Amino acid sequence: MNIVLLGPPGAGKGTQAARLQASRGMIQMSTGDMLREAVANGSPVGVKAKAVMEAGKLVSDAIVSALIGERLDTAGRHGAIFDGFPRTRQQAEALDSLLAERGRNLDHVIELVVDEDALVERIAGRFSCAKCGASYHDRFKPPLADGVCDHCGSTECIRRPDDNEQTVRRRMAEYRAKTEPILPYYDERGLVHRVDGMQSVDDVAAQIEAILDS
Ligand code: AMP
Repeated sequence: MNIVLLGPPGAGKGTQAARLQASRGMIQMSTGDMLREAVANGSPVGVKAKAVMEAGKLVSDAIVSALIGERLDTAGRHGAIFDGFPRTRQQAEALDSLLAERGRNLDHVIELVVDEDALVERIAGRFSCAKCGASYHDRFKPPLADGVCDHCGSTECIRRPDDNEQTVRRRMAEYRAKTEPILPYYDERGLVHRVDGMQSVDDVAAQIEAILDS
């Protein structure tokens, strides 16, 4: 099964994708994570993407589509959860071709519907453990002991450079202008399910599981 999670930054796509990866053995394919890795490694893709990401704009369709193609080849035939891809109509078409070339197809598109003002607060307070990647939030999900990761005990945390209010607003504008218009493309094929992303993480996860089981 291959599914796309759609929704503005901070809607909970990454959190839900990680849950599905754990519960169903599907593979999370996050172009944001792939690009951050490329930036950290200083690879040619990372060098091109760094400033674009820091400005909250979209990296080119060709770069992200190539990243997804490579990941589909290495991830074998496991089901995929596309998180943060596609973000433009051109990427949606590229995804269809990439899957078709591998004899696969898209089963569901899940749109996480959220309130944008609440998202700015969600994103601006989030951080993760530098060692194991566990995610936290200053207000909504602080670690049990201040400054110590609940999972691995590390005291180092990281915040994304694009998680500040100004860049978040720019990323949301990009979502409205370029990503939301993809929905009719999938709606025509009856693939879209809408889930209220303002519910608790567990409730959102339960609804997504129900859709995948339907
Ligand atoms: P994300 O982690 O999904 O919020 O992505 C962080 C940043 O990476 C975005 O603001 C974009 O600059 C870039 N990015 C991630 N995925 C894509 C994509 N599919 N197309 C273009 N840019 C992307």
